Amino acid sequence: MEATVQFVVESPNVVYSPEAIEAQYEYRTTSVSRGESVLKVYPSSTSFTFRTARRVPRLGVMLVGWGGNNGSTLTAAVLANRLHLSWPTRRGRKEANYYGSLMQAGTVSLGLDAEGQEVFVPFRTLLPMVSPDDLVFDGWDISSLNLAEAMRRAQVLDWGLQEQLWPHMEALHPRPSVYIPEFIATNQSARADNLIPGTRAQQLEQIRRDIRDFRSCAGLDKVIVLWTANTERFCELVPGLNDTAENLLRTIELGLEVSPSTLFAVASILEGCAFLNGSPQNTLVPGAVELARQHRVFVGGDDFKSGQTKVKSVLVDFLISSGLKTMSIVSYNHLGNNDGQNLSAPPQFRSKEVSKSSVVDDMVQSNPVLYAPGEKPDHCVVIKYVPYVGDSKRAMDEYTSELMLGGTNTLVLHNTCEDSLLAAPIMLDLVLLTELCQRVSFRTDSDPEPQGFHPVLSLLSFLFKAPLAPPGSPVVNSLFRQRSCIENIFRCAPSRGWGGPTLGPMRVP
Ligand code: NAD
Repeated sequence: MEATVQFVVESPNVVYSPEAIEAQYEYRTTSVSRGESVLKVYPSSTSFTFRTARRVPRLGVMLVGWGGNNGSTLTAAVLANRLHLSWPTRRGRKEANYYGSLMQAGTVSLGLDAEGQEVFVPFRTLLPMVSPDDLVFDGWDISSLNLAEAMRRAQVLDWGLQEQLWPHMEALHPRPSVYIPEFIATNQSARADNLIPGTRAQQLEQIRRDIRDFRSCAGLDKVIVLWTANTERFCELVPGLNDTAENLLRTIELGLEVSPSTLFAVASILEGCAFLNGSPQNTLVPGAVELARQHRVFVGGDDFKSGQTKVKSVLVDFLISSGLKTMSIVSYNHLGNNDGQNLSAPPQFRSKEVSKSSVVDDMVQSNPVLYAPGEKPDHCVVIKYVPYVGDSKRAMDEYTSELMLGGTNTLVLHNTCEDSLLAAPIMLDLVLLTELCQRVSFRTDSDPEPQGFHPVLSLLSFLFKAPLAPPGSPVVNSLFRQRSCIENIFRCAPSRGWGGPTLGPMRVP
């Protein structure tokens, strides 16, 4: 790997102090008013001052579902990198790395050098960020296996790596968790041997105690909680039950219906910890989002965007933005890990189906030349559980588009990948980006009061399949628009005038 590159911005608009980097940035935008026959276009600009605190905290991550494939793989990946491990495989020796992480392995162009060549630096060097090697892990699981045994159960890593990690992982034990059988598939009941007893209110208190205990025992400045447990069925949105923060807290107090993931979200928010949802279910019900607003805590979701959906959001963007009319998208998946087994139950599959199917909506809406109002391509998603293939997920997609003069174009794609090795670096990015966002504030000429980002952190959209956006804001699914959004925030926080940033889905509260 390359050595870490340091850089400073030489500009009167950027001020470095020991505590913070302050940068002025001119944000140009355009509003459009729809007249009877003419669209009126109004360019405008706003001056922002971004402030990024430079002190990087000692950060703890609590994974819900720590003993699962993703949880054990992420923990193993960070340990393997921290310990600089290498191991033999049939294709030679492999060394620990963070491939697949936008922050650790993705790069950004800084500008041109004297020879006119572009200079690229890793994303992570643009602003002071927590190093993944310094993360401290803890978490919960309804299964009591220690992390070494969980790693073996997952069958993701080469044996030579597992052997070296074993003594480090063996000492890590997931804390007991909340198990409400009707939310996950019945085929999961056999592993539920590590449970928090009591009423919903007592369980909530226990989760909050766990967070405080981890924070103080590990000497942490901050904790972020990430749900990477099984996909749950959707929770019904019922007025009076989960529509407001007050009602949601009352629901928990009375022991009415609340999902385990929402219980974790509420506990995290009440402890002032950001909560991120890596599964597709609607954990962040309106009451939880309102609670996050009240407590000024970041929440983000839903469902890690790892394989098939990532490709889909690039391919359909390419097709429609090229002027081709995509008419049908059919996606088959089969996988053999525990996630696949859980998804073989219809209510849990339904959560995944919904999450996977909305990813092209904004691209379709962006092209009224091709699509009439309300018109959409057919979009079908199938998931099958095939134990033999384990964590090596297969995804087969067919995209059919109309060409000019009655022609048809059909693209077929076969994608094989280790699911958890795709998800783990995304989990890292989510945590590290969220932590960074907690240190960025901004003010404008018209409002000199410093503000943070909206509690629904839509900056994370690149990493989520069904991105949550603040109420009333558009959802952006196009992958490269989502990447630009992160890049632009990174650019304008330390500098001014690099490219033509749009603040994308970010919204000032
Ligand atoms: P997994 O089944 O291997 O792990 C989930 C873990 O959660 C299990 O150890 C299980 O015991 C535990 N669990 C279940 N309910 C719990 C609860 N209430 N509290 C605490 N622990 C609980 O699954 P995985 O492959 O690690 O995937 C995790 C989640 O991430 C799934 O919901 C999956 O759909 C989602 N996801 C995964 C990917 C990917 O590429 N791997 C992509 C997108 C989303």
